[in-house]
Amino acid sequence: MRARESEEMMVPSPKGEGFFGECGMTVPSPNGKGFFGGGFMTEQERKQRILQGLEETYPTAGPELHFTNPYETLVATILSAQCTDQQVNRVTPAVFARYPDADSMAAADPEELFPMVKSCGFRSKAGNIIAACRMIHEKHGGQVPDSREELMELPGVGRKTANVVLSNAFGVPAFAVDTHVFRVSNRLGLCRADTVEETERQMTELIPEEKWGKAHHWLIWHGRRVCRAQRPLCGECTLKEWCPSGREGAAEPAKKRT
Ligand code: SF4
Repeated sequence: MRARESEEMMVPSPKGEGFFGECGMTVPSPNGKGFFGGGFMTEQERKQRILQGLEETYPTAGPELHFTNPYETLVATILSAQCTDQQVNRVTPAVFARYPDADSMAAADPEELFPMVKSCGFRSKAGNIIAACRMIHEKHGGQVPDSREELMELPGVGRKTANVVLSNAFGVPAFAVDTHVFRVSNRLGLCRADTVEETERQMTELIPEEKWGKAHHWLIWHGRRVCRAQRPLCGECTLKEWCPSGREGAAEPAKKRT
């Protein structure tokens, strides 16, 4: 499956060789190293420096959805598809008060649930949440399963949602690739992938397993706050010295109207 990217993708060029400047230029390097951050470094060194920079920049990065247990994690994550976390957080308190667990959600009437989550888009989300909870009720005794295979059997749950639930609700090592993770990982040259599956494969090879969950949040936070889809704030980016996609002047914050 190709990642849905309506924005211009700035995916860096060659395979580990190059002399990159902030405007994304590449000049062949005689020894396979690139010139970043004031010195030559290998691709592996450059990637490790970026990961270190992400960790230093976002030490408190974590989920921005509100949930307190695996059931709430699952419902909030399904609702968050193509919707902001802030909007999901506005509706979930009432949803969780009315349907506090998978068993109660399994008995919900779609016509009652849909108006409660309508602002998160797509009528199908309400149907998928109820259908997923019915399967959890019937097949898993009302408990959200903690394996990727079983999660992906639930209606409305793909690999990304399963990985989010595994990582955030169960502490199982998993690296979820959403639109921000896909875009930022490729712009930074941490991976070079056309699909979310290939992005996940390359990133989980690069990053130690114990940091997969954190790294997912570092990249989302960077994508939301700095490396935005349409107008990345390269001038303010703490990673620009090591980023092959950074563009001088691409990043001027919008001027305030006077
Ligand atoms: S915002 Fe940072 S990470 Fe994104 S393209 Fe610009 S320099 Fe690279």
